[in-house]
Amino acid sequence: MSKEIDKVLFSQEMIADKVEELGKKITNDYNSDDEIVVIGVLKGANMFLSDLIRKVDLPLYIDFMAVSSYGNSTESSGVVRILKDLDLEIEGKHILIIEDIVDTGLTLKYLTENLKSRKIASLKICTLLDKPSRRKCDLHIDYVGFQIPDAFIVGYGIDYAEKYRNLPYIAMIKE
Ligand code: 5GP
Repeated sequence: MSKEIDKVLFSQEMIADKVEELGKKITNDYNSDDEIVVIGVLKGANMFLSDLIRKVDLPLYIDFMAVSSYGNSTESSGVVRILKDLDLEIEGKHILIIEDIVDTGLTLKYLTENLKSRKIASLKICTLLDKPSRRKCDLHIDYVGFQIPDAFIVGYGIDYAEKYRNLPYIAMIKE
């Protein structure tokens, strides 16, 4: 384990169990003839999305968006720039956004408003981690893996300065 890791919050096994549970819920909540587009928010949600969709027993399409927040880099400003938009046409489709962490909620608030304007059939959000104490807007999240306190975490796709994404567990790093 890296010297900079303070504490492991969720082990590989805990994550795998949670991903399986979420996959089952999602499978039960949609109809098999729904046209579902799963949208991953890059880069952090990539690993979660890859594991989750293999636990969803429904036909679906996959696409990705990359966004960046204007303003200082540690706090979301709510003004979001789309760095990579979708490749797929989503009009009439059921959208499931996959996110790594919801913090202030401002990024997803912007993204959901943006996607809703594209005449979609429905929109749901699935996040692996949620920090409800940090919320700065009203955001409905349909599927939450784990609620966490206000701490900076890394691993399982989530970075600090682009490092630690390949850790198989989720951990806090030393200040
Ligand atoms: P929000 O707009 O909800 O404040 O920002 C969500 C984004 O902030 C997440 O997708 C993630 O990129 C980043 N973020 C929030 N909390 C953490 C954290 O504890 N660690 C890391 N590495 N990124 C975080």
